[in-house]
Amino acid sequence: MLRRHFLQALGPAMLYPSWMVPRALAQAADTHLAVRDFGARYGLRVTQMTERAILLAGEGRTLTFVPKTQQARWNSTLVWLLAPVSAWRGSWGLLQSDVQMVMDPLLRPSNHLRGVGHRVVALDPGHGGSDEGARGRVHGLKEKDLNLDVARRIRSKIANSGYRAVMTRETDRTMSLDERPRRARALGADLFVSIHFNAGPRTAEGVETFILTPRGFRTTDGGSVSTATYAAHRFNGANRVLGHAIQRRLRVSSQATDRGLRHARFSVLRGIQCPAALVEGGFLSHARTEGLLRDPAYRDRIAQGIADGINDYLRGVAAAARG
Ligand SMILES: [Zn+2]
Repeated sequence: MLRRHFLQALGPAMLYPSWMVPRALAQAADTHLAVRDFGARYGLRVTQMTERAILLAGEGRTLTFVPKTQQARWNSTLVWLLAPVSAWRGSWGLLQSDVQMVMDPLLRPSNHLRGVGHRVVALDPGHGGSDEGARGRVHGLKEKDLNLDVARRIRSKIANSGYRAVMTRETDRTMSLDERPRRARALGADLFVSIHFNAGPRTAEGVETFILTPRGFRTTDGGSVSTATYAAHRFNGANRVLGHAIQRRLRVSSQATDRGLRHARFSVLRGIQCPAALVEGGFLSHARTEGLLRDPAYRDRIAQGIADGINDYLRGVAAAARG
């Protein structure tokens, strides 16, 4: 501890040769791109720029930023940036990493999908067996049962679209977190989607999709910066396209609050060897949502949204392969 305090007293600039500057510091030095220049690069025109909102549009597409926050809306779907849109050279700027790792995959998806597989979809119903996951406050619905029910519905919808879907578990059995990516790999997964339902404060509601946090950044819900590299970091761009496709369809099919495409370092997302996303299809701790989830027709709508998102992604991969 003493040593650490001593080094801190020297200040960060003196501590590290440039090749070993920790990512947190490298991030501070990362340059921004002015929002106008970003728009010009991608064929989007700035139609409004105030302290409250920046709107860009072009060719039927819309993009909104909220200055000083990490919130972006791409064609109405909420996408969390890695860093806030901040004051930059007398205007507003995006972190270069946000341009490259968040916006580019959304605006030019084909560039991020070449060479990615599109035959086998692995669905991972979260929890199971002795691990029940979240539990509804009013009716006692168990997350593990909902996850399995919704995953089965997604499987049949994907099969109807002509793709192959496999599941990491088919029954109510206990399964460790490391076993899930291993099982997906053994099944020849080209992409992996983990299905969950949430618990939180009583008023929390809505749907959200997570992808692995890029190296060197904080997760959307806070926490520390991690410089660890995981196999799934190879798929940063494809993860983004997949996660966005799912969130885009799910927010419409569920008619729930759009909590957005977020970053997390969940174990299944770290260990996977293919593009992956983890879906939270609603809050079991929210009384109205739990009531809706008791209805098979509503569960089917959740499943349809996720399946449609997966199908959109698969079509995107096939189109990128055709060039
Ligand atoms: Zn869960």
